[in-house]
Amino acid sequence: MSQVVKEFPSKEELKQVAQELRDAHPIEIIRWGLERLGTSAFTFACSFGYEDVALVDMVLEVDPSIDIFYLDTDLHFPETYQTRDRLAERYQKEFIRVATTLTLEEQAKQYGEKLWTRNPDICCRLRKVEPLKEFLKRYQGWITGIRREQAPTRAHTEVVEYDQTFGLVKLNPLAFWNSKQVWNYIHEKNIPYNPLHDQNYPSIGCLPCTRPVQPGEDPRAGRWAGTQKIECGLHNTPLK
Ligand code: SF4
Repeated sequence: MSQVVKEFPSKEELKQVAQELRDAHPIEIIRWGLERLGTSAFTFACSFGYEDVALVDMVLEVDPSIDIFYLDTDLHFPETYQTRDRLAERYQKEFIRVATTLTLEEQAKQYGEKLWTRNPDICCRLRKVEPLKEFLKRYQGWITGIRREQAPTRAHTEVVEYDQTFGLVKLNPLAFWNSKQVWNYIHEKNIPYNPLHDQNYPSIGCLPCTRPVQPGEDPRAGRWAGTQKIECGLHNTPLK
């Protein structure tokens, strides 16, 4: 794929493409982005959750040279790091580690012990949002695994969007897929996934902020349980 810097698409173009690609396979949506702006203009944000392991397979099929990064809060489950390593081995791909320079010890000194229990918004800002903001400055577009059915805040997600927060093209190739479609893809391709998904963890974040869900509970009920928080601040799809 060409590495030439191309003109940034207008909001009108993005809206039109979002309509045209609504029913397209996620791979076609990724292909559009990488051809439109060049692969080096894009990066894929991988959390190693099940949507993202499917997307690892898809983005690498379109172009193995694409940058894939993960936000390392230093607070992930061991199973999440193991999933990263299994994917790295399977695809022979190095995942870029993006993290704050603030160690957990420094954070505890400055903000008190276990900030996540008292003010998860500040903790997420320090350990996720700020490092992400800094990292994304290198790119013109990013790819994410968010889907409409994941949360009310994501119910209007389009497959192609202009991301106002970061000033980037945002591709959400799985926006219209349901969880069954994603799992079918994973099983068909035999893609490594986080074993916690088989232990009632449909959505996996940091260890202190994630619990398993009970039968009948919302899939994201295990994230920041007991608080009103449902997003870490990375995805600002507005409620319409
Ligand atoms: S998910 Fe929890 S531990 Fe992780 S950064 Fe956010 S508040 Fe901190």
